[in-house]
Amino acid sequence: MIKGWYRGILTIITTLVLFFTQVGGSAALAAAGVTPFGPERFAHAHATYVITTKSRYYRQIWQSAISAWNKTGAFHFKAGTKRDAQIDLETASKSQAARLGEDVGLTEYTAQNDYLTKVTAMLNPSLLQTYGYSHSDDLHVAEHELGHTMGLAHNPAKQSVMYYRNRAVGIQKVDIEGVQLRYRTPAGQSAK
Ligand SMILES: [Zn+2]
Repeated sequence: MIKGWYRGILTIITTLVLFFTQVGGSAALAAAGVTPFGPERFAHAHATYVITTKSRYYRQIWQSAISAWNKTGAFHFKAGTKRDAQIDLETASKSQAARLGEDVGLTEYTAQNDYLTKVTAMLNPSLLQTYGYSHSDDLHVAEHELGHTMGLAHNPAKQSVMYYRNRAVGIQKVDIEGVQLRYRTPAGQSAK
């Protein structure tokens, strides 16, 4: 999958692990700061995508996550073609699932001079099913991976869709602000 990609930096962001416990602690009450981002971004606050998974269920999950982000107005995901879309949204094949290990989602990208050129995000259906993720949990995982496709990093706070073990939380104000700040900030600069 990686071989045909053009030269550039290949980075792998592993994400969302399982065993998310709903035990509320004081950490959960701490106010979340604006979601941080890395140095990479798309040239503009919009990009084309194609959903390549064959699964009707996961196509719908990706589509709902796209709609949820588009509704925020911070970034626009526009339907593209399989040949030239900037973002490819998939589900993991058996061999990919083995590579994902305990991760329910994964986003990989190539970038040149900190500009994203090609991004692939995948969901890991076998783990999502094994651990009993609900439809809304699945949607949150897809929203999280889309956050990475735009350049967002993990938010240390639990009240963010970008918390690394997030399962129950959808797109929050801090996440929208993170995207807005990402696209007001030049490529090459990151924010913690
Ligand atoms: Zn992640």
